[in-house]
Amino acid sequence: MSATPQSAALATRAANVIPGGVNSPVRAYGAVGGTPRFVTSGSGALVTDVDGNEYVDLVASWGPALLGHAHPAVVEAVQAAAARGLGFGASVPEEAELAEEIVRRVQLVERVRLVSTGTEATMTAIRLARGATGRPLIVKFAGHYHGHSDGLLAEAGSGLATLALPGSAGVTAETAAQTLVLPYNDLPALEAAFAEHGARIAGVIAEAAACNMGVLPPEPGFTRGMIELAHRHGALVILDEVLTGFRAGPSGYWGLQSAGSTGEELPAGVAPDLVTFGKVVGGGLPLAALGGRRDLMELLAPLGPVYQAGTLSGNPLAVAAGLTTLRHADAAAYARLAGAADTLALAVSEALTAAGVAHRIGRAGTLFSVVFGDFAEAPRSYADMQRQEVLRHRAFFHAMLEGGVNLPPSAFEAWFVTAAHDDAALERIAAVLPAAAAAAARA
Ligand code: PMP
Repeated sequence: MSATPQSAALATRAANVIPGGVNSPVRAYGAVGGTPRFVTSGSGALVTDVDGNEYVDLVASWGPALLGHAHPAVVEAVQAAAARGLGFGASVPEEAELAEEIVRRVQLVERVRLVSTGTEATMTAIRLARGATGRPLIVKFAGHYHGHSDGLLAEAGSGLATLALPGSAGVTAETAAQTLVLPYNDLPALEAAFAEHGARIAGVIAEAAACNMGVLPPEPGFTRGMIELAHRHGALVILDEVLTGFRAGPSGYWGLQSAGSTGEELPAGVAPDLVTFGKVVGGGLPLAALGGRRDLMELLAPLGPVYQAGTLSGNPLAVAAGLTTLRHADAAAYARLAGAADTLALAVSEALTAAGVAHRIGRAGTLFSVVFGDFAEAPRSYADMQRQEVLRHRAFFHAMLEGGVNLPPSAFEAWFVTAAHDDAALERIAAVLPAAAAAAARA
């Protein structure tokens, strides 16, 4: 057993002043048990805890660390920005540069508003959809997570999936009634919802590929059908790329779909109206973004009647981190990410198969997760993903951690590789897999 006395002591100390000892529930080891590690530093593919244990990291700050931890260019850019001042409440030149980089990568985006969290980005997108259409209802899909704003917590993924919560206390029935929750990958259900409520639906929000119930990409034709149905009924489509944006591929998951790499056909003109970004776009600092068609985006204040604001929006340090991350996320970096994801997904699958552990790999571009369980058919909904054998994940997780690999402490999360996961890091992971697969088999 690796020694973790200082993490254990800190967990107790933190729990005396912070609910559950964590500032975001996904960091707690609620689903897996044991001592959550307090991290003191990270470099490339590695993180070190307060007791001096080193791990190959597959959490990557839950996504932002696309280039690996403490990438020298990103650190330098943030330090240089900090030396110039932490923020001014006035625009800085680099905000437009970051917006230009987003527009360049995601062609349907004509205008960008920078915010501080993914939650704000989706919350604003929804207000914008309602403001643009004058309609009240929003459609979301079960198992998709869009942050913690009141209207979006019903049957959400991420921490709610981990903790098996159907929603959150504190959300009024009136607010919850403004969100229609439908099964994912089910166009007939969407069609029925539009037939019944069409004239009252402002928009449909979906993760570009679901990654908060484990990785479950849309079936071919689902995204297209969703966009066509919404548009036929005068509703808008908000594609949530907070997690997948600039990570599933250089232009996010939509970029892969529209380039035909997911094997589906998307006729010209079939595109979402608004897209939300977070995580990678802020390079590890609090920054997220909302983008879309010019006519919609210019409904935002100060040009239009839909209000949105933020003291720290477009903060210079966060902009520096995001811009430098995207500038270094070149074709070579994405090739390394894809290679690492391929190698790792295959190695995990082979180890589990050798140990006789039934599983499937969920995959969306460079994102993947291991879905433990005997699924006769490929999972396609949240109901399917909830049948994952979390006990096997738990045993697997702890064996990996003991062997020096830091996985997400939940079966319902994606595994995050970085461009810094080189052969040495992948070999260290591979060395632990047989023991972890055996532990999963025994669970
Ligand atoms: N949307 C998606 C798809 C996400 O994965 C997340 C966070 N995991 C959010 C929105 C919310 O982002 P944040 O945690 O920055 O508020």
